[in-house]
Amino acid sequence: MNFFKDYTMTIAGRAASASEFLQVINPATEEVIAEVPDISREQLDQAVQSAREAFGPWRAQPLEVRQGRVKQIADKIAEHAEEFAQLLTREQGKPLADARFEMSACIHWLTEVAKQAPTVELVSETADRRIETHHVPIGVVGGIAPWNFPMTLSVWKIAPALVAGNTLVLKPSPFTPLTSLKLGELLRDVLPPGVLNIVTGGDRLGPWITEHPGIDKVAFTGSTATGKAIMRSASLNLKRITLELGGNDPAIVLPDVDIEKVVPQLFWAAFRNNAQFCLASKRMYVHESIYERFKEAFVAYAKTVKVGDGTLEGTQIGPIQNKPQFESVKALLSEAKSQGVSFILGGDVPETKGYFVPIAIADNPPEDSRVVAEEAFGPVLPLLRYYSTEEAIQRANASIYGLGASVWGKDLEKAQEVADQLEAGTVWINTIHELGPNFAFGGHKQSGLGVENGLAGLLEYTNPKTIVRNKIPL
Ligand code: NAD
Repeated sequence: MNFFKDYTMTIAGRAASASEFLQVINPATEEVIAEVPDISREQLDQAVQSAREAFGPWRAQPLEVRQGRVKQIADKIAEHAEEFAQLLTREQGKPLADARFEMSACIHWLTEVAKQAPTVELVSETADRRIETHHVPIGVVGGIAPWNFPMTLSVWKIAPALVAGNTLVLKPSPFTPLTSLKLGELLRDVLPPGVLNIVTGGDRLGPWITEHPGIDKVAFTGSTATGKAIMRSASLNLKRITLELGGNDPAIVLPDVDIEKVVPQLFWAAFRNNAQFCLASKRMYVHESIYERFKEAFVAYAKTVKVGDGTLEGTQIGPIQNKPQFESVKALLSEAKSQGVSFILGGDVPETKGYFVPIAIADNPPEDSRVVAEEAFGPVLPLLRYYSTEEAIQRANASIYGLGASVWGKDLEKAQEVADQLEAGTVWINTIHELGPNFAFGGHKQSGLGVENGLAGLLEYTNPKTIVRNKIPL
């Protein structure tokens, strides 16, 4: 299959190229697989202008019409799901099975969000007064997505923004722009011009969007550092912001777990999507009474897992998505080794084609080492020994992040007690990574601001508008 073709942006419902281009690299082979437009400032202004012009008519459409269009996006993706999955694996690196799963999740999300509706709350009604709060669209949304789940995290913005009545300018990561550009292309005959603009560019584009006076809200998923920069520039015109940021999720393994049963689940809790996952378990606290047995079983399982090119049959973990991230994971590992951190598995990165890092598991490293204190965003996991539940909770909460957390144990009441004390936006008990279009997901502390998904996620794309009606004739 030849993927090197002329990818175009979608601006005002039409194909748009540019005078400069960015290369897209397959991280499994390091080959350039496509070139995409590097947008100019004038073209971004055109995209914002078209979104502004489309906003009035789009907002005026009955809710059912907007919901219907969002459902049509789901149908369009379903028609082309396999092409999307193939492209996603080549640009992102994830195994084909994971890419297919990501596409089916997108279809599910769009279908479900298409059934949602912004609420109208009747606050009070008396003989002479009626007070109600509506939720009205904000205007033009700037959506900014990262490279780990390029399609899911774009769809999480597109679906609620459009159902709520906003229009969008969406920017995928320059590392993974192809699936989003393809989506824009397929939707040109589904959505009215200007309702969904999809634009690509290098480092200057993100700040152009977040500073743009014609954009009213920014919906962002990415790192905490970028989230802070966005918050600063959004203040220029007091943009609404939803920020889904980094995490350093703890998993607490209580002493009564069935080790054989939980090890595969906990392995994938940490290494799914090659650990390039905001919600990956990044610190695994295991009670000292089972630590050695757990460690042995965990490493034995890890050794059965196949790392390789995502297009090859049987691959379970792909490469790191891009060169800068590959270099950052390598630096983390070599610093850990030079500081005497002991690895039970991996720790070295052999010279090969592709950004491959073997699974690395550190044996009880110090709590203040970077492999524990920072999110690696790559296949490096510290197993950490703890002695009391109170100590595990205290260590789990001692982080600037508060995205997700999990607790594993047979005694559900005990597990619930621990869960109640963890500082995170989502806590799972004896399961992990269950997310859904109908319940809120968001970060505490420096993991984010606002939420995605559920009614609360939909309402992030609205302004409350209260109407107080005096019923007494004037
Ligand atoms: P990143 O912050 O580097 O980039 C994310 C997006 O922001 C990209 O599209 C990028 O081009 C753009 N961007 C970069 N600088 C910008 C700026 N100054 N202004 C505006 N936009 C800018 O993140 P990444 O490396 O692509 O993704 C990895 C990070 O994302 C990790 O920290 C991970 O935990 C986080 N993440 C969070 C969630 C969540 O839902 N909380 C989900 C996935 C990833």
